[in-house]
Amino acid sequence: MSEKIQLFNTLGKEKQEFIPLNKGQVRMYSCGPTVYSYIHIGNHRHNLVDDFLKRMFLFNKYEVIHIINITDVGHLTSDADEGEDKMEKAARKEQKSPLEIAEYYTQSFFDDLAQLNIIPATQYPRATAYIAEQIEMIKELEKKGYTYHAGGNVYFDTEKFPEYGSLTNKQHTEAYSRTGKDPNKKNSQDFVLWFTKSKYEHHAQVWDSPWGTGYPGWHIECSTMSRKLLGDQFDIHTGGVDLQPVHHENEIAQSNCAIGKRAVNYWVHNEFLVVGKEKMAKSSGGFLTLANLKKEGFDPLDFRYLCLLTHYRKQLQYSTEALVSARNAVKNIRKRLSTLPKENKTADAASIAKFRTLINDDLNLPQAVALLQEVLQEGSENAYATILEMDKVFGLCLDKEEQLAIPQEVRELLNKRTIARKEKNWKESDTLRDLILAKGYKILDSSTGTTVEKI
Ligand code: AMP
Ligand code: ZN
Repeated sequence: MSEKIQLFNTLGKEKQEFIPLNKGQVRMYSCGPTVYSYIHIGNHRHNLVDDFLKRMFLFNKYEVIHIINITDVGHLTSDADEGEDKMEKAARKEQKSPLEIAEYYTQSFFDDLAQLNIIPATQYPRATAYIAEQIEMIKELEKKGYTYHAGGNVYFDTEKFPEYGSLTNKQHTEAYSRTGKDPNKKNSQDFVLWFTKSKYEHHAQVWDSPWGTGYPGWHIECSTMSRKLLGDQFDIHTGGVDLQPVHHENEIAQSNCAIGKRAVNYWVHNEFLVVGKEKMAKSSGGFLTLANLKKEGFDPLDFRYLCLLTHYRKQLQYSTEALVSARNAVKNIRKRLSTLPKENKTADAASIAKFRTLINDDLNLPQAVALLQEVLQEGSENAYATILEMDKVFGLCLDKEEQLAIPQEVRELLNKRTIARKEKNWKESDTLRDLILAKGYKILDSSTGTTVEKI
C-alpha cells in the first residue's frame, strides 16, 4: 500500500492512480464465460490477465475480493438483442438440458483455471441463481423511469441516461444502427431488460416475472450480481475489449441509474489473443483449448508464461512457435534456478523495489519478466529468493522443489478442492480430499492457504 499503483482506466482513457474505496481492499468483478462450449485460450488470456492483476494487488498487501460470473442462461448469437440463443443451440445439438450443458462446461472451466494456476475467485455466481434479484433490479429501474415496454419486452431507455456511451465515447452507435433491427426499440442502442416476446416462446429457460413469463436480457445479470456481492460501488470491473461497446456500456447504464451514482471506478480491458489477424472466438469454430495444447505436449504453465510476454493492452499474437519458445524459456529458468544457491532466504530489496515499480505501472509484466531474466543471469547469492518472490505474481510455480515434486494430477485435485470449498460444495470437497489421500498425500489447511504433504 505504500507504493502507488497506476492502471489504465477505459473510463477516461488514461493511466490513473488506483485509489480503493475501502483502504487496503480491492473489490473486483470480471465478466466470466458463457458456458455453452469449451473455453478457448483467448478467454484464458482474459482469465490470466485477471489473475496477474489480482496477484499484483496481493503483492502490494491488498485484500482482494473477486467475483467471476458464470453465464448459464443463454446469450443471443449477436451483440444486439437478436438471433438465436447460444445455450439452447448447444443443448439441442448435444441433446441435453441447458443446465446440464452449463454444468459440464462450468466444471471444465474450473479444471482449466486450476491447471493454469489461477487463484480461485472469491465466488463464482451463476446467473440462473440470481433471477429474482435481476427482476428486482429491473423493477427498480422501471420505478425510476428508465424503462419502456414494447412488443411484450421491457427495454432500457438510453435517452434517459445522457451519459450513455461514456466508456467508448459513443463510437458504437453506428455499429448499432447496423444490427439494431428490433422495431420495438425507440433508439438503436436501447436494450432489452426482460424478454417475453412470443418469438422466443420455445425458450427452455423461462421464469415468471411481473411482465410475464420470460427471461432476462443479457446485461442485467452482471449489474445485479456485482451489486449483490460487492456492494453498490466497487473498485474494478474487467473484461475483454469486445465487451466495451455494448455489454459494459449497458452495465454502466443499468448500475448507475439503479443506484443513482457511479458504480465502478476503474474499467480494465484486455486486448485479444489473435491468430494472424483473426481474434480467437468461440463461435468461429477454429479455436484452441488448453486440452489441445496439452495434447501437443505443452504444460499449461507454458501458456501462462507466453501471456506474460505481451502487455495486456496489446494484442497477443498466438502461434505454436511462440508457445515452443515460451516452453523453452520456462525450462531454462527452472534449470538455471536449480543451480542457484538456496541458503539465503531473503529477497534482494533493490530488485524487488524495481519489480514492484514495474508491476504497479499498469501491470508491466513484459518488463518484469526481463528483470527476472536479469536477476537470474546475475545469479547473486539471494537471486533464488528474489525470483521466488517475483513468482508470487508470475504464478509459474518456480518453487518447483516442493511444488513440482507433487504430481500435476494431485495439484489439480487440490485446486479443484479449493474451488469446491469456496463454493461451499462440501460433498465435492470431501470426495476430492479422499482422491488426494488415495494418491498418497495429506492435506494441510492453514490461514495462508492449503498445501499437501506426502504421507
Ligand atoms: P465469452 O465467454 O466469449 O463471453 O468471453 C469471456 C471473456 O473472455 C470475456 O471477458 C471476453 O472479452 C474474453 N475474450 C473472448 N475472446 C477473447 C480473445 N480472443 N482474447 C482475449 N480475451 C477474449
Ligand atoms: Zn458481464
